[in-house]
Amino acid sequence: MIEIKEHPLDKYLRADRIPHIWCPGCGLGSILNCFLHALKECKIDLDNLAIVSGIGCTGRVAGYLNVDSYHTTHGRAIPFATGLKLANPKIKVVVFSGDGDLFAIGGNHFIHAARRNVDITVICVNNYNYGMTGGQLGPTTPIGAKTTTTPYGNFEHPFNLCKVAAASGAVYVARWTALHVRRLKESMKEALMKKGFSFVEVIASCPTTYGRYNKMPTGLDTMKYYKENSIIMHSIDPNKTDIDDRIIVGKFVDIEKPTFDEMLKKVGK
Ligand code: SF4
Repeated sequence: MIEIKEHPLDKYLRADRIPHIWCPGCGLGSILNCFLHALKECKIDLDNLAIVSGIGCTGRVAGYLNVDSYHTTHGRAIPFATGLKLANPKIKVVVFSGDGDLFAIGGNHFIHAARRNVDITVICVNNYNYGMTGGQLGPTTPIGAKTTTTPYGNFEHPFNLCKVAAASGAVYVARWTALHVRRLKESMKEALMKKGFSFVEVIASCPTTYGRYNKMPTGLDTMKYYKENSIIMHSIDPNKTDIDDRIIVGKFVDIEKPTFDEMLKKVGK
């Protein structure tokens, strides 16, 4: 008789939704794995946790998690999460979404939630393009990179997401790649336990719609690139973390500031 053993992370996933839709070599699997381990090690009460995603490949995360999870409309994960947090301040609210969703159509929501220091955690998987819809240019596509809408190379200045987060008022800002799994998990734990608007950017491989146009046709090629070109620089000024030939990673901001809720109670008496 075959003995069926339970995987230690089984309770975090909706098994009926597996297998997932992600391509072989995509960074999303290892990033989700880090997140599940972070939840486990923080001993977060799953009954008091809500995950919100917008649209895109990363947006699928919400549907795979066995907690209260919401797959919202394009760019609207953060206002949805803000509403959840205001309605029930006791729950932990995490936004898990992609660079296009959070920083293109969702950009204004991002900067204002950070400015208000709403007590939520935002994890942004940045793969430099719109993967799900065919690999178009996005707000983080590096200069010179080829996408389906920039076949001769991107000439638009990209956003530096950590710089945007820090300048907008986030109290915790960190960046890792999908290669730095242990450090990423630790950052996710810190962000989850931080009071206020915490932000973790994860640079991730998208071999299908980004890598194969940019000399990294497999996930392994991208991991080798991260290994050779990432530099850990904790506490460096976020203004100096633009992504060029090097990817500066580390924890850049970890400060204290009253949250939106605390300000409301203090000033709104
Ligand atoms: S298109 Fe890119 S981001 Fe989307 S699942 Fe495939 S590899 Fe991952």
